[in-house]
Amino acid sequence: METKKVYRRHDRNQIPLLSPEIRKTTFKEYILGYGHTAAKDEANRCILCKKPPCREHNGSYGCPVYGDINLWIEQIQKNNLIEAYRILREKNPFPSVCGRVCPQDRLCESTCVLTFKDNGQAVGIGGLERFVGDSIRMSGIDWIDPKERPTGKRVAVIGSGPAGLSAAYFLAKKGHSVVVFESLPFTGGVMRYGIPRARLDREVLDWEISLIQKLGVEIRTGITVGKDISINHLRREFDAVFIGVGSGRGKKMGVPGEDLKGVYTAISFLMKANVDFVSPMLAPDVDIELPRGKRVVVVGGGFTAADCMYTSVRLGNETHLVYRRTRDTSSARQDEWDHLEEEGVILHWLTQPVEVIGDEKGSVVGLRCVKMELIPDQKAGRPKPVKVPNSEHIIECDAVIMAIGQGDNPLAYKDLEGLSIDKWNNLSTVDTNFKTNIEGVFAGGDVVNGGDTVVVAIRHGRDASESIDHYLKTGEW
Ligand SMILES: Cc1cc2nc3c(=O)[nH]c(=O)nc-3n(C[C@H](O)[C@H](O)[C@H](O)COP(=O)(O)OP(=O)(O)OC[C@H]3O[C@@H](n4cnc5c(N)ncnc54)[C@H](O)[C@@H]3O)c2cc1C
Repeated sequence: METKKVYRRHDRNQIPLLSPEIRKTTFKEYILGYGHTAAKDEANRCILCKKPPCREHNGSYGCPVYGDINLWIEQIQKNNLIEAYRILREKNPFPSVCGRVCPQDRLCESTCVLTFKDNGQAVGIGGLERFVGDSIRMSGIDWIDPKERPTGKRVAVIGSGPAGLSAAYFLAKKGHSVVVFESLPFTGGVMRYGIPRARLDREVLDWEISLIQKLGVEIRTGITVGKDISINHLRREFDAVFIGVGSGRGKKMGVPGEDLKGVYTAISFLMKANVDFVSPMLAPDVDIELPRGKRVVVVGGGFTAADCMYTSVRLGNETHLVYRRTRDTSSARQDEWDHLEEEGVILHWLTQPVEVIGDEKGSVVGLRCVKMELIPDQKAGRPKPVKVPNSEHIIECDAVIMAIGQGDNPLAYKDLEGLSIDKWNNLSTVDTNFKTNIEGVFAGGDVVNGGDTVVVAIRHGRDASESIDHYLKTGEW
């Protein structure tokens, strides 16, 4: 007889963290993950909804890859972690990465029914996803995904970020032969050169990339399309091309003094700190020395700003954040602000830089700022920051890091005549099938949306692979 599931009303299991004193001294991951007992208990909090809202994606909430969250959590309840990981990989080749870096608080967990039924605490979906991936990796199982018979078709993928690698994974599973061309000497895109090891252990990233390579995907690093090889050459040599080059070029603020010594774009700063390699393709200032033991101001309010702050703190700097909006209107994960405050960063909300001040030697000595207030803006749908009169003040500092978004990086596709680009300089594609206006050329990830999340880039790569597969099998464009 089938027993009715008993609804368990208790608090969410908290994921243990390294203490702030220790984590400030190390680039090791500071979030430690669920152990087996806590994970099982957390999985048992899930009531396995028949129509789970967490797997739907509606613009800005739910799971962008439509992951079968209820199905894999049920497998944790049954102690079947292999089946849980298999279900996860049907939709996403990077569960261990997404369990760590997705903003679950505004995606899957924001729709969990327990937030309405229980005491407001969603199931810890991110922590559980990470637990499944880590358990399989650490068990030493020789994981091999199933793939279809070879089709004889060849696809070139430009860029080895989450969009490119996801496209490569799903295409390889369908039996196509895939070569990924990556400009940098390493794979992973922002997952490796942008996100600090303190949030994403490289062993985890390397392992999930190695599972994609096990399917036969060839990755050629150190090859810049548009410089070492042309996209038109790839179009001749391959049956289809997927462009997943991101939008990783570091942007400046456009205020006086931003060319002084000690002002960095976030991308230069993070690349130098994460991989000790600053690419001229992505960063305007390649020849930089990292600030250590200084006073650093980071400007911005998203993932990139948070990552610059984690890194700056670990380099021994007194670290400030300046952001023109408020904490709850920022796009970083909300718990990250708590973690950063615990590490001692000083947060200046509703503050906008207007000038970087230098001394007679041209080195940074301060950041002139004004206070802001938010006023309703019906047209934009989001309150607009405006300056508060007579609120100018100076934050003394030795370095400024500009984490205000990234710009386009068109090197790979500049030679593709007639390629359609939108008014934000992103590649235009037909939304659901990721076709550009040039036959056989597809695109996805940040190069299309101008900058979103790892999981959205993965979805683009996956959905583009469906469309490429259809094109390769039918010849229909
Ligand atoms: C610092 C930072 C932190 C972030 N943190 C998070 C986070 O915590 N969680 C989250 O969900 N999202 C985060 N994001 C956003 C997320 O990383 C991006 O949305 C995602 O990486 C986009 O994937 P992509 O594959 O489109 O591009 P990318 O990750 O940018 O990868 C593009 C790849 O293409 C390569 N390439 C570029 N031009 C060429 C060329 N001409 N020839 C060959 N190769 C080329 C690049 O070298 C790169 O490896 C962060 C972004 C940044 C910048």
